[in-house]
Amino acid sequence: MECAASITPASSVSEAPTAGARRNLVGLTREARRAEIAALGEPRFRADQLWHWIYHRGASDFPAMTSLSKSFRAKLAEQYHVGRPEIASHQLSSDGTQKWLLRLPDGNEVETVFIPEDDRGTLCVSSQVGCTLTCRFCHTGTQRLVRNLSPDEILGQIMIARDALDEWPSPKDGRRLTNIVMMGMGEPLYNFDNVAQALTIVMDPEGITLGRRKITLSTAGVVPMMARCGKELGVNLAVSLHAVTDELRNHIVPLNKKYPLAELMAACRSYPGAHNARRITFEYVMLKGINDSLAEAKELARLLKGIPAKLNLIPFNPWPGSEYECSDWDTIERFSDSLFAAGLSAPVRRPRGRDIMAACGQLKSASEKLRKSQRVGRTAAPQSA
Ligand code: SAH
Repeated sequence: MECAASITPASSVSEAPTAGARRNLVGLTREARRAEIAALGEPRFRADQLWHWIYHRGASDFPAMTSLSKSFRAKLAEQYHVGRPEIASHQLSSDGTQKWLLRLPDGNEVETVFIPEDDRGTLCVSSQVGCTLTCRFCHTGTQRLVRNLSPDEILGQIMIARDALDEWPSPKDGRRLTNIVMMGMGEPLYNFDNVAQALTIVMDPEGITLGRRKITLSTAGVVPMMARCGKELGVNLAVSLHAVTDELRNHIVPLNKKYPLAELMAACRSYPGAHNARRITFEYVMLKGINDSLAEAKELARLLKGIPAKLNLIPFNPWPGSEYECSDWDTIERFSDSLFAAGLSAPVRRPRGRDIMAACGQLKSASEKLRKSQRVGRTAAPQSA
C-alpha cells in the first residue's frame, strides 16, 4: 500500500442501499422497462425518456429528471429508485489506477478497477461476490463464492466509474472509459444471464453505448457457455489458459478437470465470430519455475495452431499468502520472444495498481457466505452459481 491514496471516504452516491420495497430501475431491459411504465398507465415514450435520463445523462435520482412531469416523477418514486452500490472505499494508485470497493444492498462487497492508459481507459468489472473456481494463483480464488451479482449490480460498477470520471452525458468523443473487461471477481460464464443482461444495456445504441468490440469477457474455460457468449453477445473472448498440459492445468486451474484442454481448445476453434481480425486472447500468468520454460512456450504455440489467437502474458501478481513467485523478467522476455518467433502476438501485460492490490488476481472482498440460519432476515438471499 506504499503509494496508495484514499480519495473518497465511505459515502453513498445516490439512494440508500435499503430502498425498502422500491425496485431498482437500473438493470431492467428496455422491454421490461416499457412493460413497467405501461402498467403505471404511462405512454411508451416516457419509458424511453427514463432510459435516456438513466443511461445517457446518468441521473441517479428522480428530481434530476426535469423533463418528466412532477406527477410522473412522484409516481415513480413511490415504487422505484435509481440505485447505485454504496462506495465503501475508493483508492488511487501511484500509476493512476483507481479501485472501488462497493457495498451491495445486502452488505456484500465487490471490487471494480479503472486502468487509464495513453490511448484507452479500461474498467475491470466483477461478476460475482467471491468465486467457485479456486485457481491456485488467484487471490479471489481463496474467497468462496458468496453469490452472483444481479444485472443492476454489474451495471452499477460501470455507472459509479462514470460518475467519478465525469462522463455523463455519455460523450461521443474523448471518452476516458473506453473499454470494459469482465475480469474482476468471479467467473462471468457462471453468471451468464445477469452478465448478458447488463452488457446488453451497456451496448444499447442509446445510453452508455459501448460497442461489443470494446468489451472483453474472460473465462477460465466454462466450455458449455462459450458458444452462447459468442452468439448472444458477440463480445471479445479471453481465456485464462495458464498451462499447456492437463496435468498442470488440473492443479492450477481446477476447472480443467471438468473441461480439459482438448475440449477447451475445440470450443475456442468454434467460437462464433473469432477470425484473424478478432482474435481470442489467451491469458497466461507467468509463474516462476511452474509454467515458464521455453519448452512450454513451444507447446503453447503448437496448442494454439489454427486458432485466431493472441497471447497476453501476465506477470504473476503476489498477494498475502500466495505460494508462487513471478517469473524473472529475462525468462518472461524469452518466453514472449519464442511465441513471437512462432508467429503469435505475445505482449507482456504491464502490472497496474499493484500498490493498492488492484492488479489481476489481487481482488478480494471480506464477504463470506453465510450459513442458511445466518441468512434469515437478510434483504437478498444469496443464489448459487
Ligand atoms: N474467472 C475469469 C475472470 C477473472 S479474470 C477468468 O478466470 O478468466 C482475471 C485474470 O487474472 C485471469 O486470467 C486470472 O487467471 C488472472 N490472475 C488471477 N490471479 C492472478 C495473479 N495473482 N497474477 C496475475 N494474474 C492473475
